[in-house]
Amino acid sequence: MTHSPFINVDAFMAELKAKNPAEPEFHQAVHEVILSLADFLNENPKYQKAGILERIVEPERVIMFRVPWLDDQGNMRVNRGFRIEMNSAIGPYKGGLRFHPTVNLGILKFLAFEQVFKNSLTTLPMGGGKGGSDFDPKGKSDNEVMRFCQSFMTELYRHIGPNTDVPAGDIGVGGREIGYLFGQYKRLANEFTGVLTGKGINWGGSLIRPEATGYGNVYFANEMLKTKGESFEGKTVLVSGSGNVAQYTVEKVNELGGKVVTLSDSSGYIYDPDGIDNEKLEWVMYLKNIKRGRIKEYADKYGVKYVEGARPWGEKGDIALPSATQNEIDGNDAKTLVDNGCFCVSEGANMPSTPDAIDVFLKNEILYGPGKAANAGGVAVSGLEMTQNSIRLSWSREEVDEKLHNIMKEIHATCIKYGTKENGFVNYMDGANIGGFVKVADAMLAQGAV
Ligand code: GLU
Repeated sequence: MTHSPFINVDAFMAELKAKNPAEPEFHQAVHEVILSLADFLNENPKYQKAGILERIVEPERVIMFRVPWLDDQGNMRVNRGFRIEMNSAIGPYKGGLRFHPTVNLGILKFLAFEQVFKNSLTTLPMGGGKGGSDFDPKGKSDNEVMRFCQSFMTELYRHIGPNTDVPAGDIGVGGREIGYLFGQYKRLANEFTGVLTGKGINWGGSLIRPEATGYGNVYFANEMLKTKGESFEGKTVLVSGSGNVAQYTVEKVNELGGKVVTLSDSSGYIYDPDGIDNEKLEWVMYLKNIKRGRIKEYADKYGVKYVEGARPWGEKGDIALPSATQNEIDGNDAKTLVDNGCFCVSEGANMPSTPDAIDVFLKNEILYGPGKAANAGGVAVSGLEMTQNSIRLSWSREEVDEKLHNIMKEIHATCIKYGTKENGFVNYMDGANIGGFVKVADAMLAQGAV
């Protein structure tokens, strides 16, 4: 890409799209960041003189590979594996692996790009990366998942390492998959090392890692609420998703006195007007993590409404915590939420709001916490897991939770610092994008042509 010291957003995006065709999610993620950064970059021309923007959208390395595996019937199957090593200016590449049929290069590049800013915001020394496969764990046996993970790691292992690139989980990759991946890495590399995070507690994992993304998002939302003299107490909360992030979001909201009335999966959503209390949550955890069933079964068990093929944003709630996947709130959903009195949206998922939805939130000046700030708790505790692995010690639950809480408060403070507008409104999106950018960009300037 060519570069000029002054940012022309349209020209920049046209060149990016021409060079990276058929990657709409990547274009979307970059566009959002560039819009936030344009004024800041024009006021600080040193970054564009050094072509930082042109460099930061170009992955340092992209690895794509074949993943062959045998299913339980003995048939040969093949999937595609990826690892995007996006930016290592402030630390080893760090970010999750996603196993989902929608995974492609563009999706992983958007996630890796977001991860660079998110990891920078955590205050910990982690670069950005992301990987995964179009493998669908849904409906697969444990043995099939194990064979797939072993084959995936047989290629990935040569590209990663505790000081190079440290993958973790994301959609479709939880404790079971991390176990199989770690086991295979250990066999191939012949060393026991902190090369993955999200490990089991007896073999190098950190307490609070499973809880971290959900807890962190609620801590972040709580900081936003405090700026308005508000709290979760007595609030009705809409949560989407029903995986790891959603589950621990519900747990923390319950602890803070809120009432979660919705959960969803890719087939539909449930609405429980009495709230998903801890007993029901325990059942959801069994349903999703052990039985690996569908959320519809919640409606059958508790006799509540299930809406097939829809998302929960038409229900009435004070706070929305989208925790499923990208682009799950469009402009109309956002308008419905705001019209129904929702005044706080904090993103547990990565890029769950479309650009139109974000426009609605910002125009109405509601509390809007973008994913790269609000859901950074997960990767932050991954960073703490790396530290514990390096010093060969394990911290207590309380210690890790306190560190997580403090990190979320610091991220909130960074957003306030860079995102407060003249009228006092805090644009957390601008705050997160600029705050995340500065640290990485300064490191790139210091390191020369990297
Ligand atoms: N996949 C998570 C994220 O989107 C966590 C990544 C990690 O722990 O490395 O941030």
